[in-house]
Amino acid sequence: METHFDKAEWAFFVTTLKEEARDILWKVRSSVDPETLVKSVMTELQELAPKPEGEETRTQEEIWKQVRERLLEAAYATRPYCVKCGECCLKGSPALTVDDIELFKSGKLGPKDIFTLRKGEIVFDPRQEQSLPNEEERIKIRETPQERACVFYQQKNSECSVYDQRPEQCRFQECWAPKQVPYSHGLPLTRSHLLESAGDIYRIIEMHEKRCSHEDFSREISRLAATKGQTVENVLEILRFDHHVRDFVVTKLGIGEEILDLFFGRPLKDSLHYYGLKLDEQDDGTFLLSLVEENPIQT
Ligand code: SF4
Repeated sequence: METHFDKAEWAFFVTTLKEEARDILWKVRSSVDPETLVKSVMTELQELAPKPEGEETRTQEEIWKQVRERLLEAAYATRPYCVKCGECCLKGSPALTVDDIELFKSGKLGPKDIFTLRKGEIVFDPRQEQSLPNEEERIKIRETPQERACVFYQQKNSECSVYDQRPEQCRFQECWAPKQVPYSHGLPLTRSHLLESAGDIYRIIEMHEKRCSHEDFSREISRLAATKGQTVENVLEILRFDHHVRDFVVTKLGIGEEILDLFFGRPLKDSLHYYGLKLDEQDDGTFLLSLVEENPIQT
């Protein structure tokens, strides 16, 4: 094989490739031998190898990222089917589609199992590895508070507790094809599909969205810096409404607290950390907004 490496450098590169391949094969639960995997894509790996001094424009980190991505793709190709490893279930829960309404009809899913991700809410996107505003409203399966794993994923036996009737996204998302565009087949399920016929409560949801949208909230927070805090009352007003509407439907309408995140999305105050802010409730019931970070997210 023609390379610009001397023998020792090439041997080191190949050994490192095999180590990477071993880790990746273990991660995707493939039983293929690491040497076989490396050989199967050696021509492409050779093209990704560091170029001679003076010709290379990539950093070491970038080179190994490209190598790992190619090995991962090849490793997935050795087992192109779901092995129920739970990796996707641990990275977040699925967003539901209109077709998933059947799961509510069959009783597999209920209001307590889901929450609303409202338009404009800042969320961590694992594909882009950054926090971004959510583009459109989604209804998702609930996630565990710290790890953000799907609540239906059972750690003890690494299984989905609703596997036979799992949501559409789980059935169609193929982890073994990492280059495919993200799953986007079904029409996204929203609160209007589930709750529009619920009468008064849906009117309250619409009013809440009008007074407490994430877009307005984000805009008012951005204004805070420009006005040196003069407009803090606008932010507090939105936070207060978000707080009181939840309190109202629980205490006056007898709605269970566990359904609030479906009706109104997650509390706005839970988004404040993305902006480097926090909210404290004082003894007299008033709210105090303060800075917690030096570099808050700007939106
Ligand atoms: S519903 Fe089941 S398959 Fe889908 S993410 Fe949750 S645990 Fe995984």
